[in-house]
Amino acid sequence: MLRSAALSATRPRPVDRLIEEIEGDVLLPTHAEFDRARRVFNGAIDRMPHAIVRVRNERDIVNSVSYARSNGLPLTVRGGGHHFAGDAVIDGGITIDLALMRQVHVDPKQRIARVQGGATWSDVDRATQRYHFAIPGGTVSSVGVGGFTLGGGIGRLTRAYGLAADNLLSATIVTADGRLVTASEGENDSLFWAIRGGGGGFGVVTSLDFRMHYLSPVVWGGAIGFRLEDAPRVLRIMRDLMLSPSRALSASAAIVRNGGRPLLVMNAFWIGDPAAGDSAVRPLREAATPVMDRYAPTSYLALQSADVPGGRRGWETSAFLDQMFDDTIDAIVDYAADATLAAPRIALLPLGGAVNDVACSDSAFGGRGAEWLVQAGASWDDEGQDAEATDWIDRLHTVVADDATGVGYVNMIAGERPAHSEWTRARLRAVREQWA
Ligand SMILES: Cc1cc2nc3c(=O)[nH]c(=O)nc-3n(C[C@H](O)[C@H](O)[C@H](O)COP(=O)(O)OP(=O)(O)OC[C@H]3O[C@@H](n4cnc5c(N)ncnc54)[C@H](O)[C@@H]3O)c2cc1C
Repeated sequence: MLRSAALSATRPRPVDRLIEEIEGDVLLPTHAEFDRARRVFNGAIDRMPHAIVRVRNERDIVNSVSYARSNGLPLTVRGGGHHFAGDAVIDGGITIDLALMRQVHVDPKQRIARVQGGATWSDVDRATQRYHFAIPGGTVSSVGVGGFTLGGGIGRLTRAYGLAADNLLSATIVTADGRLVTASEGENDSLFWAIRGGGGGFGVVTSLDFRMHYLSPVVWGGAIGFRLEDAPRVLRIMRDLMLSPSRALSASAAIVRNGGRPLLVMNAFWIGDPAAGDSAVRPLREAATPVMDRYAPTSYLALQSADVPGGRRGWETSAFLDQMFDDTIDAIVDYAADATLAAPRIALLPLGGAVNDVACSDSAFGGRGAEWLVQAGASWDDEGQDAEATDWIDRLHTVVADDATGVGYVNMIAGERPAHSEWTRARLRAVREQWA
């Protein structure tokens, strides 16, 4: 009796109403899972939201948006939590965590996959590959489809079939004022333009419909490693191969450290006739003697199953290149050799091919027309190394300045560098004013 009287005298908190309304879970700072749930891939991000709402459906999202609005709280959306900037979480705000909304429905007849906003590429690849279909996705399986696609989305199928965003047919979105809308070529087209390359910040994308592409059950792929001294020659050959009109081969490169020594890792991928997979990379294999060679017949799903554990401190930046001249290749190799960090990484990702089948103004993606994306990043554990790491990473912009378009990739920029042209930024602002 005494106990219930005391309970009824307790003034309900505004968040109690949200807890009652939500079918998913509302995690508050006192909750045992809260500390894990507020963490993202980048271990340097240490933010304390007011609440994390693990939504189960669109109604939960609408209720969370309305709660944040009526209490004047900032709102963030967490997909896979992989962006280095950590925009998925915010101090004192509401985080809508989409981890319980990961279903993928495949319609093999229509060649369309409907993907919930919290799915990862692992969810999508497993569902679509059952029918030998694929959507151009990321190369790390735990990356979120939502954030990836909103920024454009570059992967091993990009030269053949375009960005993830180029294969987006429509999306359903809960807007900042709590409405559920569809965005496609024929409906709310300015919003559809913005969510294909503009990055996050245009509401909560609850589901995405993608066009799928048939892939042979046998593709060729895998890493071929070379010594850093061979990198200038191998990278020139990779560049020339990627200028070929054939889109069946995609070759990207990363310069990393292996046991303290710099190593060039080529990632080749072939989706043409399996009988020609071996000869497709012969020029690369003959450019220098590989120190490691795992390029072989395999399945797309096996290649896509790679993952990278998060939790270390990290930062990254990137630059689109119109083209890549020999002196830029040499400068990139010298830059890699100069790094004093334990785990630096420079990646060169080919664009061109199907990416250039879409006009620049058709979507907000900032790299249309560029031939290459160069990314620099690093992981470390000691906070005392932050300045050394970010200084080295940001130096990329000086190294590639001669060939750079002037913008980087919104999904791979954690600092203040621009990811869109002035024209695109102005249009994104206008769309945000209308919808956010
Ligand atoms: C290990 C690793 C590998 C990567 N590999 C690639 C690669 O191969 N190719 C490539 O192009 N990029 C790659 N990236 C970059 C990646 O595309 C971006 O980090 C992307 O933003 C991740 O999306 P996310 O949903 O996992 O991240 P989050 O941090 O959760 O989201 C990123 C942004 O998108 C918003 N967002 C996410 N989902 C939704 C949604 N459903 N509705 C509304 N807003 C949403 C978030 O609010 C945030 O602003 C990689 C990143 C890492 C860490």
